[in-house]
Amino acid sequence: MRGQIQFDEKRQKAIAQCSRCGFCRAVCPIFDLTKRPVTNARGKMILLKELMEGKLPATEAVAQAFLRCTTCMNCTLNCPSGVDPQEMVKQARKDFVRLGMDNLFRTMAETMAKYGNIYGEERRVDWGHKKGNASIVLFLGCVGTYREEESVKETLQLLDILKVDYTLIEEVCCSGVLEDVGYKIIEDLAEKNIREIKKTGAKTLITTCPYCYRVFKDHPAYQNLGLELKHITQFLKDFNFEVQTQKKVTYHDPCDLGRHAGIYEEPREIIRKIAPNFIEPLRTRENSMCCGAGGGFRGSFPKESVRIARNRLGQIIEETGADILLTECPSCLHNFRNARRQKQRIEIYNITEFIGKLYQEKDSFGKEPA
Ligand code: SF4
Ligand code: SF4
Repeated sequence: MRGQIQFDEKRQKAIAQCSRCGFCRAVCPIFDLTKRPVTNARGKMILLKELMEGKLPATEAVAQAFLRCTTCMNCTLNCPSGVDPQEMVKQARKDFVRLGMDNLFRTMAETMAKYGNIYGEERRVDWGHKKGNASIVLFLGCVGTYREEESVKETLQLLDILKVDYTLIEEVCCSGVLEDVGYKIIEDLAEKNIREIKKTGAKTLITTCPYCYRVFKDHPAYQNLGLELKHITQFLKDFNFEVQTQKKVTYHDPCDLGRHAGIYEEPREIIRKIAPNFIEPLRTRENSMCCGAGGGFRGSFPKESVRIARNRLGQIIEETGADILLTECPSCLHNFRNARRQKQRIEIYNITEFIGKLYQEKDSFGKEPA
């Protein structure tokens, strides 16, 4: 036992491996905002070293410092020493919880277990779409379902227009986020989702949320699903759409879809079909800056989270001058929409929502929109 936290050989090695070069500073959205050394990966690696050597006690204040991370993985990709700081952060959060330093996510876990969603809302959203047997199950996730309903509605309408044979289920939170904030996935919720999915007889599971995609793909609780799994961009990339926009369109890579899941090309394939004036931001693909929503950061520090989104949105507007910002993540969408200032004219949509809107405009006006 050192510094009250157990450091096995792997963690000791990773801590020693960090040369404290600070390359991770430049890409950390939280350091970008606060300019406080303790908030970036380098600072956290130093804290871990001090904890390991028993020079720093594991206190509530130190535990709080480890909550300042969106797990965006940008530090990991830019670390010349091959360290994965965001994994170290997630592990440290578990350590602090084990030491009795519960954070607000214990309440969130209880809420999830009781209500089946992260917001503790009783209502079940009725999308007016069938539930039953189909070849595809569509899984929406909590943020889309409870906070970005309009976006989800457009996505569902698009799938109807494309005559996709899909069903919704009585889904509950995948609960994977708990693993990032010091706790464990709720097996009962995972089992309910698996039961509901299997009841449909579907062969393919499509998620609209990239975080849910990662949880279904990687978490052992979902390993026995026996279905083909796709993010909605992987599914839609082979479709042809009868709509286009001539407006200048850009794209923000969500951390969960890009750096974490390696899905960069599919969203772009779709966008190129509908937007000939597609322009990339400077910081794009694996270099994309985080919107500030992930890793429980929005829950712990909502104001800073929106300020990070504001920074990212400002970068995108400056770098592209785009009329439309597309992404395909309900959390990025939600954070950007909260962050946009009135004077900023850029419109923000999920890709699927935007295509759905283009179809509606086409129907309303009998021609393609300008
Ligand atoms: S985590 Fe990597 S990039 Fe950051 S200070 Fe350590 S060695 Fe450098
Ligand atoms: S994962 Fe992202 S937010 Fe967390 S320390 Fe690394 S760069 Fe910063």
